[in-house]
Amino acid sequence: SAKIKEAIKKEAQEKNVRFLRLMFTDIDGVIKNVEVPVSQLDKVMSDEMAFDGSSIDGFVEIDQSDMKLHPDLDTWLIFPWELKNSDGKIARFICDVHMPDGTPFAGDPRNNLKRVVEDMKELGFTAFNLGPEPEFFLFKLDENGKPSKTLNDNGGYFDLAPTDLAENCRRDIVLELEALGFEIEASHHEVAPGQHEIDWKYADAVEACDNIQTFKLIVKTVARKHGLHATFMPKPIEDISGSGMHFNMSLFNEDGNAFYKENSEEGLSDTAYQFIAGLLDHAQAYTAVVNPIVNSYKRLTPGFEAPVYVAWSGTNRSPLIRVPSSRGNSTRVELRSVDPTANPYLALAVLLKAGLKGISEAKSAPNPVNKNIYNMDQIERNENNIQSLPKNLYEALEALKKDEVIKSGLGEHIFSRFIAAKETDWANFAKSVSQWETDRYFELY
Ligand code: ADP
Ligand code: GLU
Ligand code: MG
Ligand code: MG
Repeated sequence: SAKIKEAIKKEAQEKNVRFLRLMFTDIDGVIKNVEVPVSQLDKVMSDEMAFDGSSIDGFVEIDQSDMKLHPDLDTWLIFPWELKNSDGKIARFICDVHMPDGTPFAGDPRNNLKRVVEDMKELGFTAFNLGPEPEFFLFKLDENGKPSKTLNDNGGYFDLAPTDLAENCRRDIVLELEALGFEIEASHHEVAPGQHEIDWKYADAVEACDNIQTFKLIVKTVARKHGLHATFMPKPIEDISGSGMHFNMSLFNEDGNAFYKENSEEGLSDTAYQFIAGLLDHAQAYTAVVNPIVNSYKRLTPGFEAPVYVAWSGTNRSPLIRVPSSRGNSTRVELRSVDPTANPYLALAVLLKAGLKGISEAKSAPNPVNKNIYNMDQIERNENNIQSLPKNLYEALEALKKDEVIKSGLGEHIFSRFIAAKETDWANFAKSVSQWETDRYFELY
């Protein structure tokens, strides 16, 4: 790594890097960063940067606050834009958070994912690939530069709007991402007005999560330059589609894609069915992690291509899990409930745990449901043993507290902080009085 460090120093000099952003992700999935001048590069790369962990929500108590940032040298990247008032650039590292004694901090979501990936390696797999499909809305900024409630266009799925802000903005986002090394596979207008999706090539677990965090930062930054506010809130407007972040997942081993089996009826291996079985078994509990905010549950309602029922299918978009038709190396399982407010590191850790449990216990998957479940009534769903996803954050948290497998995917530290933070949110939401209530009751009673 001495060589890598030298190469980084050289590039920093040549490209006139002036500042370093040291980034990590808190339990809420929010990127945190401390910025230091480039003069600190040596110190940073010697894992010597300390910060006060007690100031980050859900991290540590005040008496043990001296945490250290260990940069992951593979995540070195120079942002394409120039500094505002002088020339020079900003670079970043994504960091792991360590205790003062050097051990990895259990409350760091990225460390936690690495821990679960080790469990996976023990079962003989070499990679857990994730291809996310994040959706987001673009709203106009008002004359004070504040986000307004006005959508920036009226387009629909795959629309080619006349050259408008959104089209240019989306292209700029793609160009910035490409400049950062993303292999963009698609970029299109989504179903709802003002809604967009950008997809890029899958990567192994930790790298894929890093990419999601970088993606969100770039989308927000570029949107702002176009006079727009980008939001990843799952359901910003009641009567139109919400934003999901479907997770396409596959396990690889030394022979390639472990979900693929040539010449079998559906082209899927036993491992794939077992992984699906694990995802179905633990769906109630991990929902709290993949749909972590009060608003997430406004999206998980019938009629908008978001899942409501726990089932799987090869074709149809109403169940929780879909197996897209491509095979070979692209054989994958798509979990459709995840939304973009999920902390990607935590989400992937619990999903991997659920899937591995299905594999280690050789669980068999139920039959796929190839009918539109939205059109079934309760009786028919019961006959087919189809459960509903939790209806709100409270139900999801209750399910999470009962599931030891999913809890172990978070680890004790993160689990207890996560529950505490989410229960506070739920309590505050439960006592708030909404516009809907005032409209419904204020004059009636
Ligand atoms: P959809 O069929 O839902 O429209 P997309 O084609 O938009 O799916 O997105 C597919 C995503 O799946 C991309 O991010 C792609 O890189 C990813 N993907 C392809 N093969 C694999 C694989 N083997 N494992 C995980 N993700 C994969
Ligand atoms: N927007 C939909 C959702 O909330 C998904 C649409 C799609 O299939 O791409 O999940
Ligand atoms: Mg989509
Ligand atoms: Mg999809």
